[in-house]
Amino acid sequence: MNRAEATVYKERLLALRSRMCGDVDQLRENSLRKSRSEGNGEMSSMPIHMADIGSDNYEQEFSLSLMENEGAALDKIQLSLDRIEEGTYGVCDDCGAKIPKTRLNAIPYATQCVKCASQQEGV
Ligand SMILES: [Zn+2]
Repeated sequence: MNRAEATVYKERLLALRSRMCGDVDQLRENSLRKSRSEGNGEMSSMPIHMADIGSDNYEQEFSLSLMENEGAALDKIQLSLDRIEEGTYGVCDDCGAKIPKTRLNAIPYATQCVKCASQQEGV
């Protein structure tokens, strides 16, 4: 994978991370705001974070993977960003094979090829 290609995934990862972090902060913020506003009657409109990360399909696939384990996904996003910097992004952690782009498009923070990932899930 060349630099230009890696940059595309980097941007996706950054957008995804900020959206995920934003979601977490937003939940926390909303519950804080709720308890505060009971006191002063303040009505703040909820901020809507819509990260521009692409098509609806792309988002849907994310939502599915996000629901599985958001915390682990955040770790993997950071790991993937590090690997982009190192130039090792898109290479399977276990067997060293190239991770297919179709997989990276669906899960940009994938660190294993399909074969290794399915083997791990089976353990
Ligand atoms: Zn592999």
